[in-house]
Amino acid sequence: MIIESFLRHKIQFSGPVSVSDFMRAILSFPKEGYYTRKEKDIIGAKGDFTTSPEISQLFGEVIACWFLSKVHEKQTYNIIELGPGRATLLRDVIRTIETLKKIDIGSITLLESSEHFKNIQKQTLTPLGYDIKWIHDLSECQEIHDSNKIIICHEFFDSLPIHVFERDSRDTFGEILVDFVRNNFTFVKSARPTINCRLLKIDEMFPCSRYMPNSVEVSPLSWKFARDLAKIGRDTCHTIGIIADYGLYGPSTSSLRAIKDHGILSSPFKYIGKADLSANVDFMALDFYLRSTYKTFFQTQREFLLSNHIAARASVLLKNYSNQAENAIGLHRLTDENRMGNVYKFLCFEKK
Ligand code: SAH
Repeated sequence: MIIESFLRHKIQFSGPVSVSDFMRAILSFPKEGYYTRKEKDIIGAKGDFTTSPEISQLFGEVIACWFLSKVHEKQTYNIIELGPGRATLLRDVIRTIETLKKIDIGSITLLESSEHFKNIQKQTLTPLGYDIKWIHDLSECQEIHDSNKIIICHEFFDSLPIHVFERDSRDTFGEILVDFVRNNFTFVKSARPTINCRLLKIDEMFPCSRYMPNSVEVSPLSWKFARDLAKIGRDTCHTIGIIADYGLYGPSTSSLRAIKDHGILSSPFKYIGKADLSANVDFMALDFYLRSTYKTFFQTQREFLLSNHIAARASVLLKNYSNQAENAIGLHRLTDENRMGNVYKFLCFEKK
């Protein structure tokens, strides 16, 4: 209720807000935001959505094996994760790295905005005995410059706010805003280009052509994180990383969605603060910034997992379980083209 009334008053006093401001309020509002409130675990069967590492340990194991295929052996790597959630992926990655003994793990740095998740991360990771630090901004990683690094971002970028722009009949972009009309939130189009259209140079970025969509979602905060990740790799030793998420290699149209109880709601204005809001990741934009420092490799989740031998690892596990366990291991769900295999993408990177 507090978020709704905050947004309503803001709109009544100063006019419609950007989709980005709307998302930021819903997701990050102090104590009440979707990712900042404490009372409900949002990930997993009883939550609103399930992520790949929560489906199967194979996911983290295969990611760890990809990292190990790139590392300089016998060296120490510090791990940085953005948005670790329940830390299931990190726990599986660490377990696999410890088992295969090719490298040592140094410190662990976690960028996490939710106190609730920080507590779960503490419970899961503290027993492993590493030095763990929580940060608010990637600039706080400075003291671990001059070290090898492994960077993990899984389903982090889709939770960052987006702006939505739409081209009009004069081929100029206007911004889609959120207004409050007759007691309801609703989308409206700005009458003229907003300051965001000008600052982000949307007309230049998406020149009018039959290949360019007339409506685009862009996430300047994602660009900032990608620039920060490029900076981390720039003046340091060996750095490798993975960004895995759903999205496209290019901007999306109308991908903003509200998710609650494992379903997509008909409107993002339902259950404000109680439903997740997310949008497709534009991997081309992230790649643009990362390529200044890293060699990058873009694949679907299916291609990444299968080319890194998930099927072989699954069959080893299956030998030790009954048929029932096939579902639990989740190979099909993670890799099938009609399930998570094609929708989710991997942008892997390694310092040039
Ligand atoms: N990586 C986990 C969790 C994904 S949910 C998994 O795949 O299971 C998104 C995660 O990002 C949550 O931990 C959420 O609290 C965190 N997050 C979202 N926006 C953030 C922001 N702006 N800054 C830091 N953490 C954020």
